[in-house]
Amino acid sequence: MPDPTIELLDTLPYGRQTIEEDDIAAVCDVLRSQWLTTGPTVARFEQELAAFVGTRQSVAVSSGTAALHTALAAVGVDAGDEVIVPALTFAATANAAVYLGARPVFADVSADTLLVDPASIAARITRRTKAIVTVDYAGQPAPYDEINTLAERQQVPVIADACHALGATDHGEPVGSRGELNCFSFHPVKSITTAEGGAITTNNGYLAERMRAFRNHGFDTDHRQRAQRGRWNYAMTSLGFNYRLSDLQCALGIAQLRKLPTWIEQRQNLAARYAERLADIPGVTPLALRGECTHAYHLFVVRIDAGAFGRTRDEVFSGLAQRGIRANVHYLPVYLHPFYEQQFGSQRGTCPQAEAAFEGILTLPLFPRMRFFDVERVVGALREIRSGG
Ligand SMILES: *Cc1c(COP(=O)(O)O)cnc(C)c1O
Repeated sequence: MPDPTIELLDTLPYGRQTIEEDDIAAVCDVLRSQWLTTGPTVARFEQELAAFVGTRQSVAVSSGTAALHTALAAVGVDAGDEVIVPALTFAATANAAVYLGARPVFADVSADTLLVDPASIAARITRRTKAIVTVDYAGQPAPYDEINTLAERQQVPVIADACHALGATDHGEPVGSRGELNCFSFHPVKSITTAEGGAITTNNGYLAERMRAFRNHGFDTDHRQRAQRGRWNYAMTSLGFNYRLSDLQCALGIAQLRKLPTWIEQRQNLAARYAERLADIPGVTPLALRGECTHAYHLFVVRIDAGAFGRTRDEVFSGLAQRGIRANVHYLPVYLHPFYEQQFGSQRGTCPQAEAAFEGILTLPLFPRMRFFDVERVVGALREIRSGG
């Protein structure tokens, strides 16, 4: 058997989960219990997640993508509607609208933070706009005050794709409480993991019930509720999916959530060290920070200015890869993917800031178990690449 720690020493991924003995024990406890899925642990995870972000409800689902699909369906997004989505995001943010037959309308980002620009959202609102989706790019909260004001005026719900930002705050309020519905992912590179998994947090009890039905085929009760009531019968009142998250996964989620504040602090410390060490390397610049918020640092994104650095972003990416450092690029503007070009006829020039930013952005490794010497290794590699080594 190869020793997995060797691989960890040799190559530095851009993100990585943290699994400790208490996580393993929590999963094993569920394996020995009566319920593997849709039992008491799902409800407990939902309560703890809601408490963490300060909302009344949360609904656990099978992925972040399922969370977005479920949230948009709950607010009534339907065929022919428009959903405003930031251009610089993971494809799933926009795909969720397409699942429902709606058209994603791409909003541009602010050049300094790469967060969605409220002015661009405002310019794209039409009578057909059914929802506004925000993204807390890299883990920094979107400017929710401005977006919520805009959305209230138009009477359109804000759906937060908060998949990058569990553990961040905006004006002292936790991310997860700033949108009408707030979507999370628990994929291993995200801030906590359930292997695959997701959730929606909300204060809206009506929408929470709709989402509970949607994740379970549109049934009005789940298996455990029927067992508790000693009944077999249930009614399918709408069309839903199997988007359930299991007890097994929720046990892992509960164990992970307890450690999240420490992990966020570690991410913030590593990001601060990067910023300090990169300050005197021309042509490598971290993204700007908004005031009045705290950053969850899902990703540490820098811009490579090819003129000042002397190498292009792709050359830096390759140079790092040759040194065992696996950087990444988040993201190609979604509408430039072939599917969107073919299905929606989207074209270059739609969101100039996102397109310009895309040429230079690079995600450097950042995860809680990294050490300062890993940061030194990345910074050292960047210096070498710059000097042509
Ligand atoms: C990870 C992610 C998703 C999708 O989450 P999955 O759990 O992988 O389905 C959606 N949006 C953003 C911004 C993400 O980072």
